[in-house]
Amino acid sequence: MCRHLGWLGTEVTLSALVLEPPRSLLVQSYAPRRQKHGLMNADGWGVGFFDAGVPRRWRSASPLWGDTSFASVAPAVRSHCVVAAVRSATVGMPIEISATAPFTDGEWLLSHNGVVDRAVLPLPSSAESVCDSAILAATIFGRGLDELAGTIAEIGAADPLARLNIVAANGSRLLATTWNETLSMLRRPDGVVLASEPYDDDADWADVPDRHLVEVTAEGVTLTALDATKGP
Ligand code: GLN
Repeated sequence: MCRHLGWLGTEVTLSALVLEPPRSLLVQSYAPRRQKHGLMNADGWGVGFFDAGVPRRWRSASPLWGDTSFASVAPAVRSHCVVAAVRSATVGMPIEISATAPFTDGEWLLSHNGVVDRAVLPLPSSAESVCDSAILAATIFGRGLDELAGTIAEIGAADPLARLNIVAANGSRLLATTWNETLSMLRRPDGVVLASEPYDDDADWADVPDRHLVEVTAEGVTLTALDATKGP
């Protein structure tokens, strides 16, 4: 339902990733092209980035297209590692900043595109909000990102209707899962973009197959199938 994006590479401005491309998250907030659930993403937005190893977030519960302050500052903020999202709240979920990705444990930034039945999740006291994505994020943080593939496969098995696309980064690793939502990858000379949908018409965008884990590091990109039959 949401649209999200992760970047690992050389330093780029937040506007170059989030606002400037012809089909950027800004445009996806009102006219997504590949969104299967929801028509637009007007329930908030968040941009997280690493600054000398520290995750920093700018989030809002209002539409990205109306945020002239972010538009003014984004061309002046640079980072080598970014996680950003525009949100279409699932019915019944609160519309508030604390329900808006990216979530953080102080080391990782994490966004969830999808939905999950909260009954199959523990209720971690560290969850920022009662929103399913916030509880899912706290669950993933609690188990550790090294267990992401197993955690997603286990939750996916517990809730067959779940959609569990994750983008997460810690400054040196960019991870993503595909589980019933779209994800595309663009390998640029200066870095790698993982995004719910292409932000332009570059022929190098490649669709990531469903039920996979993508890991991007300085060493390269690896793709691993998620096995729904195995837990962590
Ligand atoms: N279920 C989450 C929420 O309500 C994420 C929705 C989405 O992917 N758009 O925010």
